[in-house]
Amino acid sequence: MPKKILLLPGDGIGPEIMAQAVRVLDVLKADGLDIVTDTALIGGCAVDATGKPLPDETLDKALAADAVLLASVGGPKYDALPREQRPERGLLAIRKALNVFANLRPAVVYEELASASSLKPEIVAGLDILILRELVGDIYFGEPRGIEVREGEKVGFNTMIYSESEIRRIAHAGFQAAQKRNKKLCSVDKMNVLECTQLWRDVVTEVGKEYPDVELSHMLVDNAAMQLIRNPKQFDVMVTGNIFGDILSDEASMLTGSIGMLPSASLDANGKGLYEPIHGSAPDIAGKDIANPLAQILSVAMMLRYSLGEEAAAQRVEAAVKKVLAAGKRTADIWTEGCEKLGCKAMGDAVVAAL
Ligand code: NAD
Repeated sequence: MPKKILLLPGDGIGPEIMAQAVRVLDVLKADGLDIVTDTALIGGCAVDATGKPLPDETLDKALAADAVLLASVGGPKYDALPREQRPERGLLAIRKALNVFANLRPAVVYEELASASSLKPEIVAGLDILILRELVGDIYFGEPRGIEVREGEKVGFNTMIYSESEIRRIAHAGFQAAQKRNKKLCSVDKMNVLECTQLWRDVVTEVGKEYPDVELSHMLVDNAAMQLIRNPKQFDVMVTGNIFGDILSDEASMLTGSIGMLPSASLDANGKGLYEPIHGSAPDIAGKDIANPLAQILSVAMMLRYSLGEEAAAQRVEAAVKKVLAAGKRTADIWTEGCEKLGCKAMGDAVVAAL
C-alpha cells in the first residue's frame, strides 16, 4: 500500500515553497518511493473558500493520511477576522485533532552558513541541537480563558495546565530523542514560580529513572534563554512545554541565521506526523519568487525519516541541500558576498539537480 501524504500549501509563500518540495518528492517517486499525494486547503485560502480556517474536508483527509506536509498560513488580510476564523486557528486545530503532541525542531548550523548568524561564528559553527516542544497542552489550550469585565475593568486570563500523563509522554519522547543523539537532555521549566512546572520537573525526573543512559539536567526558562545565546553548544536535546518551547525554539532558530532553513516535525504516539517549516507565510515576500524553499524541502526529509521509515531517502535529501550550499548557491535571505543568488524556483532546480 502506498503511503498517503496530504499537502497543505496554505498562504503567502506557502504555495511557492510547497511547489519545490513536491518536485523533490517527484524525483523520489520516480526512483521508487511508494507514496500518493493529495492537496487540501488550510488557513486564509480556506477561509476565503469555505469561511473556515480548517474545513471538515481538510481535516478528514488529514486524519486519513500517513503524514501531512504543511507550508504556512496567515497574512495581514486576515488579521481583523474574529479569532476563531483566523488562519492560525486552523493550525492549532489541526495539531490538536491529529494529537501531534511532540514538536521536534532541530537547529543546525551548516558550516557554509555560520557567518549568517548574528552571533560570532565560533559560538554557532557546528551547532546541532534539538528542541522538543510539547504542542497540544499548556496555556495555549488551558481553560478557562478569555477577556471579561471584573469590578468595572477588563481582565484577560489564561490557564497554564499540564496533567501528569501529558508531561510523561513528552518526557519519554525527549529521553528517546536524546538516546538517538548525544544522550543529554535538558528539561526547561519555571518551577520557582509556577506550580504547573514544578509538576513538570517532578514527572520528568521520575521518567528519567527509566533512562539511566541519558544525562538529565533542569534549567529555568529565563536562564535557558540566556544560555542559548551565551553557549548554545552546551545543549543536545532540550524538552519543554508549549509556551516556553514556542519562544525558545524561535530563539534557537535565529542562532542559525535564517528562519528559511529550519524544518519541524510534530508527531503523535504512533509516528504519524505533521511536517512544516518553522517560519510563517512571509507576506512581505510572497509572490516574488525569492523565498527560501529549503526549510520546506528539509521538512520532507524529516517526514521521510519519522513517518515513512525512509532513512536513506531522508539522508539523500539532506545531502542534496548540503551540496547546493557547498556550491555557493543561496536564496536572498542567506546570501553573502561571493555567493550565487537564486530565486525560490531556481533553488528548487538546484536541489533537484543535486538529488
Ligand atoms: P514570518 O516567519 O512569516 O516572516 C518573518 C520574516 O522572515 C519576514 O521578513 C519574512 O520575509 C522572512 N521569511 C520567513 N520565511 C522565509 C523564507 N522561507 N525565505 C525567506 N525569508 C523568509 O513571520 P511573520 O512575518 O511574523 O508572520 C507572517 C504571517 O505568518 C502572519 O500572518 C503570522 O500569523 C503567520 N505565521 C504562520 C506560521 C505558520 O504557518 N506556522 C508561523 C508563524 C507566523
